[in-house]
Order: sequence, then structure tokens, then C-alpha cells
Amino acid sequence: MTVIAIDGPAGSGKSTLAKHLARVLGFVFLDTGAMYRALALAAHRAGIAPDDEPRLTELAQHIEIRFTIDGDEQRVLLGEEDVSEAIRTPEISDLASRISVYSGVRRAMVALQRALAAQSEGVVAEGRDTTTVVFPEATLKIYLDASPQERARRRQHQLQQQGIEVPYEQLLQQILERDTRDASRPDSPLRIAPDAVVVQNDGWTKEQTFEYVLKLCRERLGEKV
Ligand code: C5P
Repeated sequence: MTVIAIDGPAGSGKSTLAKHLARVLGFVFLDTGAMYRALALAAHRAGIAPDDEPRLTELAQHIEIRFTIDGDEQRVLLGEEDVSEAIRTPEISDLASRISVYSGVRRAMVALQRALAAQSEGVVAEGRDTTTVVFPEATLKIYLDASPQERARRRQHQLQQQGIEVPYEQLLQQILERDTRDASRPDSPLRIAPDAVVVQNDGWTKEQTFEYVLKLCRERLGEKV
């Protein structure tokens, strides 16, 4: 199995990059953040408190999360339900980052991520610990980064396109809080794997980031792509 693993903070452009790479290389896109989000949604619906570690762990051990392709779009399924939109609300974003601190939850999710990846020949995985914990043997590891200010500006632009106005300062604050939470949790904090290529993409377009990383993939994978 060939794995390209991409980690980095919220808003660095990992999802866009991973999705595009997977399409061009003909690999499966493993969006691990979407899996934590689906778990958060299931917990929320079941009325499980964000600090109820035993029940959250139990839920993670039995949850059914899958990805399917619908035309050009990858969808996230929770059981049989398509939750692709429901997991993208600010409330679920926040909850996902709270419940992902628990070791039991992480162990169950990592097992599920590896099982999903094992069904494919080629995988582009994206998240916070795919280069360090989930796929330590990945063929190519990328740490995608951008300054908090750049990431807040991108988020503001994205929301504006959906007709939603949120003050820049508020978005910057949210990003800094999530960064702190992701980097300071004791289990699998966000960090740069020693063998990862760091791509700092401040001021780059999505296309520039994609072209740069595609070149790295071709150099590393050679004949396989
Ligand atoms: O990447 P995304 O914003 O969709 O991830 C949602 C949340 O899930 C993140 O804030 C992070 O706390 C958590 N997460 C994680 N490990 C991963 C992917 C996401 O802890 N591999």
C-alpha cells in the first residue's frame, strides 16, 4: 500500500490539497478530520457530554463511518446516513476538537483509519497525526503550514463566499484556540514528523501548493504514479 500522509493545523489547506492529489493520482482520500467530526455528531445526537470519556470511547469503538463517492464528490456516511454537510457546522468543529483529546477515542479511530486504508492500493490521508501515529511508514509525509493570520484570512474569505460575515479577529481567535488544543493534548499532539517535508504556503494559491506537492509525490513514488 502506498500512503501519502499530510498533517498540519486547521486552515492550512490540507483537505483541498489531499482531495486534489487523490483524484489526480487515482488514490483514495482518507479525511481523518471528517471521521472525528462524524463521531462528534453522533455523540451530540446521543446526548453524550463532551467530557464523558468512557461513553465517547465506547461510541468510537462501535461507530460505523465510511466514505463513498458520489459523482466527483466524496461523501461521509455515518451508518447509512450522509452527514457530509451536518459535520461542517462550527458547533461540530468545536466538539470534534474537544473529544479528540481522549486516548481511547483516538485508539479506536486510528484502528478504523488503518482498516479503511487497508482496503486500497493507494491512499492520501490527511489530519493531525497521520504522519506521526496512523501511518508512521507512509511513503511521503507532508507537514502543511501557514501563519494563523493567513489561515484566518482564508477562512473569512471562504465564509464570505457563503454570504456569512464573521469578524477577522474572532476567526483568528478560534484558529489560535484550536491550534493550542491540537498541539498541547498529551496523546498524539500535532507535531512535525522528523521525516516530513514542511510546506509553508503563506501567499501561495491552492494551485501552487498542489503543483509543488505533486512534484514531491512524483519524485518519491517514481513509476507508481
Ligand atoms: O481537520 P478537521 O478540522 O476536519 O478536524 C476536526 C478536528 O478533529 C480537529 O480540530 C482535530 O482536533 C481533530 N482531529 C484529530 N486528529 C486527526 C484529524 C482531526 O485530532 N487526525
